[in-house]
This record gives sequence, C-alpha cells and structure tokens, in this order.
Amino acid sequence: MADLEQLYQQVIMDHARMKHGAGLLADHDGESFQVNPTCGDQVRLRVKLDRTCVPTVSDIGWEGQGCSISQASLSLMHDLPEGHTLTEVEELGELFREMMHSRGTFPEEKADRLEDASALMGVARFPARVKCALLGWMALRGALAQALVNEPEDTP
Ligand code: ZN
Repeated sequence: MADLEQLYQQVIMDHARMKHGAGLLADHDGESFQVNPTCGDQVRLRVKLDRTCVPTVSDIGWEGQGCSISQASLSLMHDLPEGHTLTEVEELGELFREMMHSRGTFPEEKADRLEDASALMGVARFPARVKCALLGWMALRGALAQALVNEPEDTP
C-alpha cells in the first residue's frame, strides 16, 4: 500500500509539473473561469467541440495557477474527455466527484475508468483539499455548458 501511495504521489507531482493542456485555445466553443477561494487556485479553461456527428470534446486548453493538487488535477483531467460525447464527459465528472467525496473508499473498477486521475483518490481524505482537485472539473462543466448554448445555428 505504501508503494501505491508513493506511485500516486509521483503521478501528482509529475502532472503538476508537466501540465497537460496548458495554454488557452484560440479557437474554442466554450470557456469557464473558476476560483477556489479557500486555497487561491484559479483557472480559465476553454473547450473545443467536434460537431460533425454527436458532439464530442476535441480539445481542452487551460491557464491556471495555484497549488500542486489543483494543477495536477487539471493536467490529469485534460487527458480524459478527448473524443468522448458530452454525456460521457459528464459521467466521468460525476465519477470524479464521487471519488473526491468517498474519503478513500472508492471501488477499484470505478477508479480504473478515471485512469491516471485516480491518483488523486488520496486527496479525498483531506476535505480541505477536495476543492483544489475539483476546480478543473467545475471549469470543464462550465465550459461545456457554455459550448452548448453557443451551438451554431446551422446544426439541427
Ligand atoms: Zn489548492
């Protein structure tokens, strides 16, 4: 178990440094700005949809600052929704929120669906930090909601 904790720590540290998806998209369908006042984390996130068929997420870009948990969570989240429908992305978000409120008793088969983002499971034991991990997912939800409102008129 100690090894697994160390592995998770490493994944979080790596992502806090690598920041997958860092940088704002010029061409985008929705945007959201979120702040976590308890920690001072903030993020501006933009999303681009592929509307050729059922709308799917084609790209996510973000610019943020804050603690390593918030930044790692954004980076880990970035890798998940690409190519998924908005319903699937909402399900992933729900799963992540459920994990964050599980206080560390989250079933493995559910955690697997979150791929590397499941490394943040341990954060659930620290309620004060849960908002840091959820910041990016709130921004994603907001940006997708805006993208739907901004739907082009030529689509049925
Ligand atoms: Zn934070």
